[in-house]
Amino acid sequence: MKIVVDGGVAAGMSCAARARRLDEQAEIVVFERAKHVSFANCGLPYHIGDVIKDRDRLLLQTPESLDESLALDVRTGHEVVSLDAQAKTVTVRVLDTGEEFAESYDAVALCPGAAPFVPPLPGVDHPNIHVLRRIGDMDAIKALVDGTDGHPAKHAVVIGAGYIGLEVAENFHHRGVETVIVEMADQIIPPLDRELTTQMESYIRAHGVTLQLGTQAAAFSEAPDGRLRVELTNNAFIETDLVVLAAGVRPSTEIAAAAGVELGPRGGIAVDQHMRTNLPDVYAAGDAVEVEHLILPGPYLVPLAGPANRQGRVAAENICGRDTTFGKVQGTSIVKMFDMVAGGTGANQKQLTAAGIPFDRVQVHPSGHAGYYPGTAKMHLKVLFDPEDGRLLGAGCVGFDGVDKRIDVLATAIRAGMTIYDLQDLELAYAPPFGSAKDPINMAGFVGSNLLKGDVALWYPSEYPGATEGARIIDVRGPEEFAVWHLPGAENLPLPTNREACGSWDTSVPLRDYCAERFRSYLASR
Ligand code: FAD
Repeated sequence: MKIVVDGGVAAGMSCAARARRLDEQAEIVVFERAKHVSFANCGLPYHIGDVIKDRDRLLLQTPESLDESLALDVRTGHEVVSLDAQAKTVTVRVLDTGEEFAESYDAVALCPGAAPFVPPLPGVDHPNIHVLRRIGDMDAIKALVDGTDGHPAKHAVVIGAGYIGLEVAENFHHRGVETVIVEMADQIIPPLDRELTTQMESYIRAHGVTLQLGTQAAAFSEAPDGRLRVELTNNAFIETDLVVLAAGVRPSTEIAAAAGVELGPRGGIAVDQHMRTNLPDVYAAGDAVEVEHLILPGPYLVPLAGPANRQGRVAAENICGRDTTFGKVQGTSIVKMFDMVAGGTGANQKQLTAAGIPFDRVQVHPSGHAGYYPGTAKMHLKVLFDPEDGRLLGAGCVGFDGVDKRIDVLATAIRAGMTIYDLQDLELAYAPPFGSAKDPINMAGFVGSNLLKGDVALWYPSEYPGATEGARIIDVRGPEEFAVWHLPGAENLPLPTNREACGSWDTSVPLRDYCAERFRSYLASR
């Protein structure tokens, strides 16, 4: 058995290593066009920020160590340039010499990953404009920040406020580089719903990082003083020393497509649950493939490290004769900006709406752990579920303390097909430094169950002002809060006065209660 793997990082190396553990006799050859294999791309921003000081810590393996431990034939600087599925060969180019040769296979795994999207804008090939995908990209960006030419970058522009863009911006800030983030959406972290990201946007701005939302880069040019000038679609200009393009990635499919491998509707390599393509003995895994989503219809591109590693492993299992399937993806992801954390799993409200999937949602604002124990703050947790049977569909969470734990619990609950009712019963670890006797997850379950059982009816900011027509709007917060801001037309009836006041109300007039975090208005409505 001879297994050839194209691409030697997450999916490719998982595939090769798993294949070796299943088949001691197989000949396993990995071709990687870059200079490094099996490196930690997720750690790249943190070396730029000097958080991970030692560059070598990102280089998890070398061809030599992989030969020693797993007897893998790993060849860096070797690019697969074509695949002939009939002859069962790949053509490989040695990048140093230009020499080409054909390598035969019994099974081949295509794991070429994805390429950063480089918008075709005037001046985009300026030497101080970079993407961040490989060790070489990191080295080039870090050299500019370090000022190896004697002029450390003082100012940077990051295009894109997704996970990678934010991590790069945080690390630039950490290095004292004045940073502007430009994002074409009207919010950061587009995979999260808008109301979850606003607090983090304020927090980022409070740290002195500029956010330019709802605008895009239009062109790049050299300013008279030699700096880089970024022109935005809102007609603003920014002069800077360095630009990082973090505007998303596109699956690398050129070689597969040229060989007759079918692509899916989202442009990724189409695979079945065994990670098989349409061509015999041709498998694919990682950022280059599209796979079924756990909640949303049709295949999805989910360029994340976890799915890539697991898909590589599944490909190897099937290559080696096992019958293993890859479950679906749910896009569980997380990012931190300074002390603040944002994460999501499953589908968000925007995706459910676009897919026409009915949903209900609850939002709660509990503390990460017991409020009386130091070191916590309120989080904003949003959970989406089926309005009929309560099946969980997705969740997003933003806060300072315990966000990762809640996202992981919800990711597991969604994967297990649990309902919003089930969240009430989850018995989660609790002592004051870690959680609450009624964990935020339980709280979301309580509120969701109340909603489905009709114990409370919710109205949302997006329904204002329509939902208030013909209704009394009751602000149940305290008078001081009311004085700072309130909805036009609202009456201020603080919660403690409600019980007595409501005795004389005309019950035929509908009420719309509100407060700050939906808790006091819930009590008032009961
Ligand atoms: P890759 O890891 O990109 O590996 C593909 C390899 O194939 C590349 O090394 C490429 O050089 C090689 N290759 C391509 N074409 C050829 C060819 N023709 N011949 C030979 N070799 C070829 N994900 C998370 O889940 N969490 C994170 O925190 C996170 N942070 C990230 C931070 C950064 C800066 C980056 C860039 C990515 C991050 N990711 C994160 C995404 C994650 O790294 C990817 O989802 C994952 O690496 C995909 O694995 P892959 O094997 O499909 O592709």
